[in-house]
Parts: sequence; C-alpha cells; structure tokens
Amino acid sequence: MLNLLCRRLLHSCSNAARTRRLRTASTATVVLLCLALSMVQARANPWAALEHPSAGTAQAHGKYTAGCVAGAQRLAPTEPGLRTMRLERRRNYGHPALLRYVRALGKHMLEAGFGAVLVGDLSMPRGGPTFSNHISHQSGLDADVWFRMHPADRPLALARRETLSATSFVDWPRRQLKPNWSEAQTEMLRFTAARREVQRVFVSAVIKQHLCQVTRGERTWLAKLRPWYGHADHMHVRLSCPTGSHGCRAQAAVPDGDGCDALEWWIKPRPAKKREKPEPRAKPSLPVACQALLSR
Ligand SMILES: [Zn+2]
Repeated sequence: MLNLLCRRLLHSCSNAARTRRLRTASTATVVLLCLALSMVQARANPWAALEHPSAGTAQAHGKYTAGCVAGAQRLAPTEPGLRTMRLERRRNYGHPALLRYVRALGKHMLEAGFGAVLVGDLSMPRGGPTFSNHISHQSGLDADVWFRMHPADRPLALARRETLSATSFVDWPRRQLKPNWSEAQTEMLRFTAARREVQRVFVSAVIKQHLCQVTRGERTWLAKLRPWYGHADHMHVRLSCPTGSHGCRAQAAVPDGDGCDALEWWIKPRPAKKREKPEPRAKPSLPVACQALLSR
C-alpha cells in the first residue's frame, strides 16, 4: 500500500513540478518530498527504483518468478500495431527476444486488419520483483497482452493509457465467452502459441475450452494454452529461455497432447471454502548475477 502511494505521489510530483504555480510556490517542498519518497521506494524495492536497463549483452537470469534481466530493451509507447499501457509503472522492458515477439504480434494483427494490440506489463528495466503481487515477469521473458484491441488509426493519449481498463471476455457464471470475443482474439492466441520461442500462454480455462471446441485441422498450438485463473481480459505470454542466457531457469515443457481433456477441474463449480489466511512464504532468493545488476 505504501509502495503504491509512493509511486502515485512520485508521479504527481513529477507532473506538479512542471506547473508554474508549484514551481514558484513550493518547489523546494516538492523536491524534498520526492527525494524522501524515492528513498523509501528504493529501500522497499531497489528493483522498482531502477530507471534504465543495464548495458551489455542481453541475459535472462534465474526463474520467471525469481530473476532479473540484463541488457533489456524498451518497448516504445507507440509502435506499429502496438500501444503500450500503464507506462507509469515502467514495466515496458524485456529481453530482446520478448520485444521481437511482441513486435511480430503487433505487425501481424495490424496487417491482418484487426487493429492495434494493447500491451500490458513486460518487466521493469532490469526485471526483478515488482511492488504488486504480480510475482512473475521478473526475467524479461513474460508479457501481458490485452484481449481488447484498439483501432489502428486512432491515437491513444498517454494519460488515457493509465486509466483505460482491460475488459473481460469471459462470462464466468455461465462458463462461456462473452459476445465481444471475435476472430481477433482467436488469431492473437493462435499466432502466439504457434511461435517457437513461446513456451506457454496462460488464459482462462473458458477461453481454452472454446478454442478446443472450434479449432479444426492443426491443433498442436492448443497445447501451449494453459488454463489459469484471472486471465479473462488478457493473455500472459511466457517465452522459453533464449539462446545464450545460461543462467536462465526454464519451466518444464507443456505436457504432450492438446490439453483439451484436462479443463474440467478448472471449470467445474466448487463449494465455497472458508478463506484461511495463507502462511507467509519466504521470498525466493535471486541469483547472484542479479545482485550485480543492482549496483551497475
Ligand atoms: Zn502476467
């Protein structure tokens, strides 16, 4: 909570410092407040305080949930077929392999006439753990891509990108897709899952169930669609360890088969359980190579 407050205030500070009113009246106060907040933020999570990627060869280190990335690249706010969302979070960085995939997706969807793709979180400039409970996205190999599209010829103001919401495409009580699902979302998933560098794609089980039912012919790409809760408004794309990233720890490959016969567990209603407070889990430690990235 404090972290979120700090980020918001820091953002307001940088905006406020640009206005004449505050420049003349209380610049010193704003600067002091920002400095104090920066220090609190850096102590709480030094990874979130880093503003730039490290120099040198790109390397993904560690696991998706406990890692970092060296030599990351930045996805610009607007690229052909792409609009990057929530820039305030500074999570538009990734291993070059991830940016290659995202750019290929944008180009493909644009050329196919579906419009521009809205890109959510990638990683922070050097990866590492984020402030939120988003525990993966640490090694520069994960990307959240929204299912909702944006008209290719319509600009999207930077301020609007902080407030626009991803929209759900799943009617969960009915265990079916909403009418807003179209060929665009199917093509986004098919294109993504068919790419060699993509290791798995997390989606709502209802989405996978639908695609299992309607896909004819080539079905091998369905194997990479992995059911997971909370993926009704975006897909979470995870790449395999790129060549040359020797410290990267890959996740086990997806099982053989299209996985269409293993969805029932995810979809069937369950009796509501009394919520118990989860045991606090020890934070996984990051590889030694990541410590070096904090100080460079
Ligand atoms: Zn994600």
